[in-house]
Amino acid sequence: MNKKYLLAPGPVQIPSEVLLEMAKPIIHHRTEEFEAVFANVQVLLKELFQTTEPVLTFASSGTGAMEAAIVNTHNRNDRVLVVINGKFSERMGLIAETYGLQAELIELEPGEAIDPVIIEKFLQENPHTKSVMVEYSETSTGTMNNIEKIAEIVSKTEAILIVDAITALGVVPVPCDKWKLDVVIGGSQKSLMLPPGLSFLWLSKKAWKRAEISNIPKFYFDIREELTALKKNTTAWTPAISLIQGLSVSLNMMKSFGWDNLFKKNQLLMQSVHAGIKALNLELFSANPSVSVTAVKVPEGLDGEKLVEILKNVYGVTIAGGQSELKGKIIRIGTLGYIDSSDILVFFGALEGALKKMGYSFEWGISLAAAERVLYE
Ligand SMILES: *Cc1c(COP(=O)(O)O)cnc(C)c1O
Repeated sequence: MNKKYLLAPGPVQIPSEVLLEMAKPIIHHRTEEFEAVFANVQVLLKELFQTTEPVLTFASSGTGAMEAAIVNTHNRNDRVLVVINGKFSERMGLIAETYGLQAELIELEPGEAIDPVIIEKFLQENPHTKSVMVEYSETSTGTMNNIEKIAEIVSKTEAILIVDAITALGVVPVPCDKWKLDVVIGGSQKSLMLPPGLSFLWLSKKAWKRAEISNIPKFYFDIREELTALKKNTTAWTPAISLIQGLSVSLNMMKSFGWDNLFKKNQLLMQSVHAGIKALNLELFSANPSVSVTAVKVPEGLDGEKLVEILKNVYGVTIAGGQSELKGKIIRIGTLGYIDSSDILVFFGALEGALKKMGYSFEWGISLAAAERVLYE
């Protein structure tokens, strides 16, 4: 009977208000009742994306919206630039190649963020580039890219900027209109306090023009169909009704907490994690750490996979380890969605317990004190 705490960078903890909403008897989607819920979702998604343009909702995991973003805004053989600094940006490149795009890849060391000047130079030297694809927050390495600066560069060119903001939306501001972003991708199971199963896609006017002429085959993810349906407050195909009802509640909760308060809270949680990690003499993995997920180097001689296992099995705390070549070498703590200061203290208590068991030496409570100073002083 071990109590469970989820601090992974997705899926995330879900408030009971949202769980109870989703447990209600199902309603039919071609009804005024559903359309009213979806209309509310539309208004609040526009606030989340800071835009006056529509936000599309798909019944799919986040990867569905990544695919939709790419297939709707290109023609076959288009030249594109993909910035790769982890597993999710790698996936963008794979999708682009799957659909026959000529993808130029800039591959960075994991944990590095892209220097926007590199993109600027690339676009000057390759003026036929149709799009630039980049992660806002690369979840696999806990790294944020400077999207504001990149958008400033790309918006002056013919290219469109495609941003995977799945672990940025609801964590940090994503001002789509103000920054002149073009395509922004979201997902339900990260900061939106929902189970997996919904993905979101936003396009600028510049990107919608691309959608009108795109000749890559698509059916389920044809956004022109979705836009037509959206104007009638519904979706083209059967929506994930219960998830959308849950979304309506979670967005209402976020709005009443206040978007700015939410961003401030997330900053504070991140800072408290950084403080606790440093107090334990551990090191951050990323050169430009993400606000939503903190990646930490596992000290030499310790097995990171075992650390994650002890946290889960002995203390009931689920965090994430590293993927692929980072397996065993980093741990990742998600501070996105329905997470509070108390969760941080639970985490550091468990981390200290697990590290002691593994023979790592430090003074009991040192990370808790450091985190408390940030959270409560
Ligand atoms: C979780 C995540 C995705 C989507 O992954 P799915 O498993 O398809 O939901 C995409 N990009 C980033 C940065 C993510 O964190």
